[in-house]
Amino acid sequence: MTTTLHADVLILGGGIAGLWTLARLRSLGFACVLVESAALGAGQTIASQGIIHGGLKYALDGQVGSAASAIAAMPEVWRACLRGDAGAPVDLRGVPVLSDHYYYWTSPGVMSRLAGAGASKVMRTAVERVPAAERPAALRDAPTGMNGVDVYRVGELVLDARALVARLAEIGRGCIVHGEPAPSVEPWRGGSPLRMRCHDGRGVEIRASAVVLAAGAGNEGLLTRFILNAADALPVRTQRRPLHMVMLRCAPGAFFGHCVGTSSSPRLTITSGVPADTGESVWYIGGQVAESGVARAPREQIAATRRELTECMPWLNLPDATRWATLRIDRAEGVPPSSGLLPGLRPELPVVARSGRVLAAWPTKLAFAPLLADEVARELEAAGVSPRADGALNPALPAPPVAAHVWDREGVEWS
Ligand SMILES: Cc1cc2nc3c(=O)[nH]c(=O)nc-3n(C[C@H](O)[C@H](O)[C@H](O)COP(=O)(O)OP(=O)(O)OC[C@H]3O[C@@H](n4cnc5c(N)ncnc54)[C@H](O)[C@@H]3O)c2cc1C
Repeated sequence: MTTTLHADVLILGGGIAGLWTLARLRSLGFACVLVESAALGAGQTIASQGIIHGGLKYALDGQVGSAASAIAAMPEVWRACLRGDAGAPVDLRGVPVLSDHYYYWTSPGVMSRLAGAGASKVMRTAVERVPAAERPAALRDAPTGMNGVDVYRVGELVLDARALVARLAEIGRGCIVHGEPAPSVEPWRGGSPLRMRCHDGRGVEIRASAVVLAAGAGNEGLLTRFILNAADALPVRTQRRPLHMVMLRCAPGAFFGHCVGTSSSPRLTITSGVPADTGESVWYIGGQVAESGVARAPREQIAATRRELTECMPWLNLPDATRWATLRIDRAEGVPPSSGLLPGLRPELPVVARSGRVLAAWPTKLAFAPLLADEVARELEAAGVSPRADGALNPALPAPPVAAHVWDREGVEWS
């Protein structure tokens, strides 16, 4: 049996881009349906490190343009959402803040560029040098003095990405369907029904005024279905930037920090979590080591990360019981050709491309979700789509689960 739903906007993909856009568009009065093919947050979002960057990484690059200002504004937007302020774009009350600041430390012997970057006009959050006595446990035994380690504290939030997804799923309850576009879907020009196949086998026909492709890496495949010919093509190309992340179980307590080396991108970026089955900590490690480790086999990547930890934190004694695992994941991004960006470089801002009433959206960073959704709303207005549909919900349709934290996923091979 096929159910028919009427909506102003159909959103494909339930990561941060789709879920935040759903919440924002509904608050503007649009009737929306979101279709997720796997689990909510299953792509990059729950695999992210949950850092709401405040611009220091950009300032380290010496960037002071619009992108740097945009990212610098993000922590305050998110804080307003977390407090549930009137006028905040989304109510995120109840989402745990794992840390309301982030530590930056220099690897021993590297002169610090942090103080200068922190004084940049772009920064809206304080960058404070941390006295030795106030350092977090993971940095407490770091050397101080002339050739020692400098530690800075920056007001960048770290969120539990899974709890964030769960909160957005709650806000979108009744509008989210577990399924995917039927393989036979015809290229869509607007107005025609879009057939979806639910995961319980039911068929759904969605009549929507506009479609937003927010499927992360899945946008690549969806774009080929929703674009009729070159003349219709969205002004965007897609790219993937792979990472080979590393996880340590039984890490020495929760810690959130970037190790800054000679380049502007951190040598190590460490965030922490707690696995569902034990109370021990997990360190989740990204940064340059994850970018440069893509060609390495998991065992080699673990060895390389151990070496990097030894160089960046020589004072650290990892317990014998430490267990290791790695995760391969791609960052999926849209790049407007007009940006002139070379392949493999990160776009500076979120990207929304539109052809008629088909939009494709990539936040570029989790932190940029509020900007992305505002841009989608502006593009819908430009396309002449306004809130009209009279309820699109069918709570009887199956809803997707929220994906597990990466360290809790089945199939992770711990050493
Ligand atoms: C390891 C890592 C760490 C990161 N850390 C940070 C960070 O600390 N701070 C930050 O700001 N950014 C960070 N990012 C970037 C950030 O995670 C991404 O920019 C963001 O999560 C992308 O969200 P998205 O919704 O576009 O895509 P995704 O999160 O990938 O979501 C896409 C969704 O679409 C679904 N889907 C796919 N195909 C289909 C289909 N055909 N039909 C329906 N649904 C479909 C998928 O199952 C998935 O749920 C990180 C990224 C990675 C990979």
